Amino acid sequence: MFRVIECIVGQHDLRLVLLAALVWLLGSAALFLLLKRSIDCVEARRRQWLAIAAVAAGVGVWATHFISMLAYEGSMPMHFDPALTALSVAIAIIAFWAAFLAAGRHFSILRCHAAGVLAALGVSAMHFTGMQAIVAPAVIRVDMPAVIVAFLLLAACFVTAFILFGRLRDPVRIALPALFALLGVVILHYTAMSATILAPDPSRGIGTADASDGWLVVAITVATVGLIVCVLVGAFLDRMVTDLRGFADATLEGIAILSGGRIIEANGQLARLLGVEAATLVGSDPGRWFTTADGLAIPSLRGEPAEATLTGSGDDGQIVEIAAHAVEYRGKACQVLAVRDLTARKRAELQVEHLAAHDALTGLPNRMRFTAVLDNLVRSGESFALLALDLDRFKAVNDIFGHAAGDAILCRVAALLRAAVDEKDLVARIGGDEFLILQRNIASDADAQALVRRLFADFAAEMDITRDPMAVGVSIGVALFPTDADCGERLRHNADVALYRAKERGRGTACFFDLEMDRQVRERRELEHDLRHAITRGQLSLLFQPLVATEGGTIVGYEALLRWAHPRRGSVPPEVFVPIAEDVGAIIPIGEWVLHQACRAAMQWPEHVSVAVNVSAVQFQLPNLAAVVEEALRRSGLAAGRLEIEITESVMLRDRAEALATMYRLKALGVRIVMDDFGTGYSSLSNLQAFPFDKIKIDRSFVSHVTDDESARSIIRAIVGLGRSLDLPVVAEGVETEEQRRMVLEEGCPQAQGFLFGAPAAAIVGAPRFLRVVGE
Ligand code: C2E
Ligand code: CA
Ligand code: CA
Repeated sequence: MFRVIECIVGQHDLRLVLLAALVWLLGSAALFLLLKRSIDCVEARRRQWLAIAAVAAGVGVWATHFISMLAYEGSMPMHFDPALTALSVAIAIIAFWAAFLAAGRHFSILRCHAAGVLAALGVSAMHFTGMQAIVAPAVIRVDMPAVIVAFLLLAACFVTAFILFGRLRDPVRIALPALFALLGVVILHYTAMSATILAPDPSRGIGTADASDGWLVVAITVATVGLIVCVLVGAFLDRMVTDLRGFADATLEGIAILSGGRIIEANGQLARLLGVEAATLVGSDPGRWFTTADGLAIPSLRGEPAEATLTGSGDDGQIVEIAAHAVEYRGKACQVLAVRDLTARKRAELQVEHLAAHDALTGLPNRMRFTAVLDNLVRSGESFALLALDLDRFKAVNDIFGHAAGDAILCRVAALLRAAVDEKDLVARIGGDEFLILQRNIASDADAQALVRRLFADFAAEMDITRDPMAVGVSIGVALFPTDADCGERLRHNADVALYRAKERGRGTACFFDLEMDRQVRERRELEHDLRHAITRGQLSLLFQPLVATEGGTIVGYEALLRWAHPRRGSVPPEVFVPIAEDVGAIIPIGEWVLHQACRAAMQWPEHVSVAVNVSAVQFQLPNLAAVVEEALRRSGLAAGRLEIEITESVMLRDRAEALATMYRLKALGVRIVMDDFGTGYSSLSNLQAFPFDKIKIDRSFVSHVTDDESARSIIRAIVGLGRSLDLPVVAEGVETEEQRRMVLEEGCPQAQGFLFGAPAAAIVGAPRFLRVVGE
């Protein structure tokens, strides 16, 4: 230790020693500043900075070593071999480079040790190579143990410096490691110097004390310090520039700065958006890259953002939004363009629009879209057909096989419809199993008929009801524009009317709209509505038509016949309103009312006179019909034996077992049951045998032809024969003439009914009239 201090103080120019120390302090500070800079960088740039740091450190440590050598005031004249001196610099640079690489990005303890040892090895090698460059008339001898200790101390200092650098924060992060590096180098240099003995040896040539030593010191110091300062300034500027660029690149928008209508700067986003290098953009006219939606030149944009497309990107190309602002850039008044890519947003908007206008399941246009297209077509005035489609059996498929199967069927139907129509036509799904087709540009209704045929054929081919239990059929209603309506709403309504009619006719049919159809449908709707209030409004009444013994004309009973006095339409015939009442269920309260009224009326008649009441098949389906009848009898006090219930064969078409049960319940009350309108329906013998009828009424259509049509007469004869064999009396209804009376009497009908004996008339009070029988 003492030897070392003695060496520094006694054998060196202290001012130069201080200078040497300062140079290395600067060099090591630069080293750690550059290391710090390198850590912040991407990998490629980090290696560049490490190389620069290695140069700064290598040159710095070498300059320190060299100035220290020149500070040596030994008695021996010496100078330096240039090649070895240069080699010593190179060694230092390379060693630092290797050390920095060894330290890595994270300065782990292990890596700091490797880096410290490498740096120490480099500095030592640099030192001793430098020593070898001395040309002096002496032999150089080294005290190895001292040098090894110095090396170990140097390594320890470097390891400590790297570890501190890796762990500390600014500003000590630079200062402390730099001080340790300084300490290490000073220790090494002067320990090594004191451990080096130059033994004079005149045979080794003459070293001349160099007169230019002073200049050399200045030159080396200035060059080294200059180099290090340059490197530091470079690092600082680079940081500023890259940071600014990073700032510009940090935004999601493309940015271009315009001066004189040309791009002078552009960020990475813009270059990427346009698919070119940023350098390509510089100097170009922005009009070359963008086309504004309203055709404005880009440099003239102010304030409000404008939409534009990328030039040459075609129709479905990228859409951008450009906002322009005035800025000051590099001391000049410039314009900055912020370019935002709207493509994704526009696509999303289009998708939302599509979703709003289409059915999610089948992808077909929905009601909203359909209505818009329909209104447009109506406005354009072209001739087109509107087809309203409704699937047959769909509800059953959905109920039986589940909703997934139902959905699959709807998709199949959608595909089928789409394939059946022309490209220009529109298929829409507007509800559960309801579809609409707009067949455009039709020349006549023949075009629509052709489409209907095609649809039925496609359905038959695709949906085979006989083999596929999930197959569905279709009913179609067609209305034509402008023939059938003058507006879209009316046309839709009329297509629906036609569809309704098609379904009424039987499934799997098509119907074209006509005005008569419309009138009927409207009338029916109105009647349906009015019927529901007919009882409470007192519009219903009963007429009674006598039933007579054919032979003597004695009245044996009356048939109650319902009448509806409509406030506007007058008397509505039961043939019109009874089926409607059956359809809408109004027949149930009405039928009950009829029963009560008829029984009440009959209570006014002589006891042997019966009353016949028509009961609809719908009423017969009700399990409580017998109870209703019983209640009517109870309330009126009428003997059950005086009541006849008239039913038609349609009763037996529904649930036979249930019908039979009801019939037996009625019979158990003591009520008689008449088969009405026999001969018109299914007229099967089995019905007569299976059901406990008390009487058969031959339909009036046979009676009216009995005089001129031999076959009508033979049918009557057959029915009477049948009745006789089953022990059922047969009534002939609709007897209008004496001739008819005579004939039905001849054929064996004991009772008859008809205008000849009396038309239906208002309630008969008291004893019934005895009719004069014509011809008697
Ligand atoms: P229906 O049971 O066959 O009734 C006999 C119909 O023949 C009555 O017509 C009657 O006015 C008519 N008629 C009677 N004599 C003659 C005749 O000599 N010549 C001709 N051409 N016709 C004659 P109405 O009253 O118009 O009744 C029609 C149908 O309405 C009835 O046919 C019956 O099926 C149904 N109906 C009437 N009232 C009721 C009711 O209260 N309930 C139910 N469910 N149906 C009823
Ligand atoms: Ca009847
Ligand atoms: Ca009848």
